[in-house]
Amino acid sequence: MIKLRCECCRREYPLDSRGWQCACGGLFELTETPTFSRSKIDKNNFTLWRYRNLLPIKREKNIVSLGEGLTPLVQINIYGLKVLCKLEFIAPTGSFKDRGTAVLVSALKEMGVKSVVEDSSGNAAASLAAYCAKAGIACKLFVPAHASPPKLRQIEIYGAKLARIEGPREKAAKAAQQEARRSYYASHYYNPFVLEGLKTFAYEICEQLGWQAPDHLIFPTGHGTFLIGAYRGFKELKKRGLLKKLPKLHAIQAEACAPLYAAFAHKTQDELPSTQAGTTVAEGISIVRPVRWRQILKAIWETAGTVGIVSEEEILHAQKELAHQGLYVEPTAAVAVAFLKKLKPQRGELILLPLTGSGLKSVPI
Ligand SMILES: *Cc1c(COP(=O)(O)O)cnc(C)c1O
Ligand SMILES: [Zn+2]
Repeated sequence: MIKLRCECCRREYPLDSRGWQCACGGLFELTETPTFSRSKIDKNNFTLWRYRNLLPIKREKNIVSLGEGLTPLVQINIYGLKVLCKLEFIAPTGSFKDRGTAVLVSALKEMGVKSVVEDSSGNAAASLAAYCAKAGIACKLFVPAHASPPKLRQIEIYGAKLARIEGPREKAAKAAQQEARRSYYASHYYNPFVLEGLKTFAYEICEQLGWQAPDHLIFPTGHGTFLIGAYRGFKELKKRGLLKKLPKLHAIQAEACAPLYAAFAHKTQDELPSTQAGTTVAEGISIVRPVRWRQILKAIWETAGTVGIVSEEEILHAQKELAHQGLYVEPTAAVAVAFLKKLKPQRGELILLPLTGSGLKSVPI
């Protein structure tokens, strides 16, 4: 039987436990996850559920899918570099969050959960609202009042309850955790099922590239779930002998809100340096205290990647440059593109960028 296990004190909890972290404050991991093998891929399925034998969902009937995954790779030339973009914004709700949500909501259905709460700056909430609608799970979302209007509208139209919380992003998290006592906290950054779904990003890339990994992968990073999920996917492939080396993972933040940059510079895992949350157009990564910050740094150190920062001006410039190539993303997604100006790749190295969120969700600036 699969269970939750604290990564610090290793205490175990039943899977349907209502707490989202251990009594000691540690993060939950799943006690077992499936082993990768190419023969387990369902080649006739053209969604991320082609990896369903590699996902911790037992019964077919509990799968909640809106057709997520299997996003295309498109090559562009930008800032003097040849880059492969993976179009993660071509997802049912317009962001990569659907990979994690599809697996999380399927797990919730398997556990018999009937109502959930969550906090998010927009995309995770929209994603959860959509999948809960499909699954018939009641959903209440706590969102900062300053989130972009298209995202708020999207959350509401799926039929979710929306609570707009004034003040900084952390206030929405507190409000959701308060309410979670009477519901289930379906957190996209605490819940380990989300990371299982995000591992499929790595599986897909390697399948699409003929069982190779890129040399560089660049993520706009807030809570770091995308980077960690991808890291775990690549690790699994390497462990099974399908990859020789891991790609360098780069976490990019907005200069205005860059706690990971500070921690990376201090080369420490003891304490997350406290940083201010300035205003940024990259609302999706405006996170002052990413709870998985130690896991993010470990993945970056292990793969010889880096943490970078970009300015507001650079983000908006990158968004425009990319649009001039026909790809319209939201400013948060453009953060990774902006970093290309600072990346110094070796000749012939393959650079891959996930384009994380659709430009249609952003407001004119
Ligand atoms: C959530 C989000 C991110 C950041 O992902 P994390 O897993 O929090 O690091 C990046 N881009 C977009 C568009 C997002 O919605
Ligand atoms: Zn613990």
